[in-house]
Amino acid sequence: SPELAVAPIRTTCAYCGVGCGITATTTGDRRVTIKGDPDHPANAGKLCSKGTHLGETVSLEGRLLHPMIGDKRAGWGKALDLVAKRFADTVAKYGPDSVAFYVSGQLLTEDYYVANKLMKGFIGSANIDTNSRLCMSSAVAGHMRAFGEDVVPASYEDLDEADLFVLVGSNTAWCHPIVYQRMLAARERRGAKLVVIDPRRTETCETADLHLPIRPGSDVALMNGLLAHCRREGLIDEAYLAASVSVPEGFWDTLDEGNDLWSVARACDVPAADLKRFFDLFAATPRTVTMFSQGINQSIRGTDQVNAILNVHLATGRIGKPGAAPFSITGQPNAMGGREVGGLASTLAAHMDFAPENVARVGRFWGTDKVAAKPGLKAVDLFRRLGEGKIKAIWIMATNPAVSMPDANAVRAALAACPFVVVSDCIAETDTGAFAHVRLPAAGWGEKDGTVTNSDRTISRQRALFACPDEVKPDWWIISEIGRRMGWRTAFTYARPADVYREHARLSTYQNGGARLFDIGRHAAIGNEAYDAMAPWRWGGTPFADGRFPTPDGKARLVSVSQAKIAPALPAWPMTLNTGRYRDQWHTMTRTGLSPKLSRHRQEPLIEIHPDDAAALGIADGDLARVATAQGGSVYRALIHEGQRIGEVFAPIHWTDRTSSGGRTGLLPRPLVDPHSGQPGFKATPVRVEKL
Ligand code: SF4
Repeated sequence: SPELAVAPIRTTCAYCGVGCGITATTTGDRRVTIKGDPDHPANAGKLCSKGTHLGETVSLEGRLLHPMIGDKRAGWGKALDLVAKRFADTVAKYGPDSVAFYVSGQLLTEDYYVANKLMKGFIGSANIDTNSRLCMSSAVAGHMRAFGEDVVPASYEDLDEADLFVLVGSNTAWCHPIVYQRMLAARERRGAKLVVIDPRRTETCETADLHLPIRPGSDVALMNGLLAHCRREGLIDEAYLAASVSVPEGFWDTLDEGNDLWSVARACDVPAADLKRFFDLFAATPRTVTMFSQGINQSIRGTDQVNAILNVHLATGRIGKPGAAPFSITGQPNAMGGREVGGLASTLAAHMDFAPENVARVGRFWGTDKVAAKPGLKAVDLFRRLGEGKIKAIWIMATNPAVSMPDANAVRAALAACPFVVVSDCIAETDTGAFAHVRLPAAGWGEKDGTVTNSDRTISRQRALFACPDEVKPDWWIISEIGRRMGWRTAFTYARPADVYREHARLSTYQNGGARLFDIGRHAAIGNEAYDAMAPWRWGGTPFADGRFPTPDGKARLVSVSQAKIAPALPAWPMTLNTGRYRDQWHTMTRTGLSPKLSRHRQEPLIEIHPDDAAALGIADGDLARVATAQGGSVYRALIHEGQRIGEVFAPIHWTDRTSSGGRTGLLPRPLVDPHSGQPGFKATPVRVEKL
């Protein structure tokens, strides 16, 4: 496909939530030179290995280039008519909740907006969930409980002004490398300290002043212990609490119980002296950023863990000030954009929930009386209902749940039994696409045109470098065509992504009355040229700097959370599996797997195991080992690593049936979820490990 320009084009990286800016220069034949954008606030010209090698992933090899019905090539008209008819017929026969969309943090905000509008506003069901459910929905739920709205109260500039970084459940050096480099620069410049809280000794720990390898799942005990310590030391900001925070009755009494240093050290299984060092460091450092990621979120107690962190920051007044904030960093490039438009089944649109006045307001704005009145099925429940035959048509966009969902074999069985599966993707052969009745060729990075929101609320343009191949279409166009064919022609008439963005901006401000911080109404009438030229900008300013929160009384809430009992290991499953990412791979490797340079870092999936466990099991470094759970088993090569806690192993999430004969990590975890967020736990699965 022809290049759109030869001059450098400013765009955004396709991968993680750091959201680095890129300048891309096309050099003919779909070749492109990638550099970091020196003017982007997220990265100031830097890129990690994944961003640097994006140019190796834009060839048309392996691309889905034509609509497919079964294994036969079809025209767009025929494929769209079929999808619209099957969805309309299913809704007519079984009701709106018999259909579902499962979408992705890889979608642009404009794509996400149109998908959400079609499902929640016109089909009339909230059964649209996103793979972001697996990524950060516990942070969303925690923010809503504490602040009244899903607002990340931090920015990357806070990293430049902090004196202490506390990283909880985050291998930042590998998973958010540019953020990590920014923290290292702050350490160099102003002597900021770094504490890493993670059961594993990861690469991030190499530069840390202190690493606390806590027992998996003991984060609430740790943070409650920290808050109790701050209270004993007289560090609760009473004036701030009185003005800005509601404290539930009995909160302090509950906190005082069993949160002495020794009890907390026992609960977390770390030396009391190290714990005291952390507590003292935190207590002495008002400018602290606590950054948390999947180790907190991907837990069946994720929301309580998030609130335990937020409690500490609220009670000590470490929020809304430079260099002082709790900071949830997102995994995907546009998880935040999805949160803004209502890509999650549990939110409506523009940070609104399903309160009747919001349902009515969105209905007025969209001109429909069909808006879903209640939340829809969250990812794990959605696929469970699919397996039960209650959902009879599903459309999966830009994601690979046959690999990435917990208990992935059950998801495969559900997809195999579903009467109608649509997959839109840029890749021709995916594990999920193998179950599709219809596959629709969607634009990929380098062809997409729209906006994304990164972890610190900065909205950036992702711009096209190449024209879409002949029969490849943007997601917003595909979804709109289905909406029009289902009978809603006016509501789904968009000529360009700017039309969608303007509507999204208008909705964010529509009868808002200043109640929600998410308001991008300044762009409600943005022109096409201004949209094309839009420079990165952050919505929300410095949230909560005035001590006011988007709750009815204007106050944030401390949430009473207590450490749940951690079940002892069972004889059948004596070890605990933790999962995560490698430095140079992304999700299920459909894109990063195309880059030979990225594949050099780790060429196969490894199970990391402590030397004592390996010796007890007769496993030598490089041996093959089988990891089994009640859900299934998979084979890995063993890597003996002293950074593992005894009794715990670690496996990467990337490999699939298509890329490997082993290392199918997604099939191992249980489909258990956090009760507040519905986010599944991936970090503490009971397993058995055996030498092959
Ligand atoms: Fe891309 Fe994230 Fe790397 Fe930045 S840190 S270049 S956004 S993968």
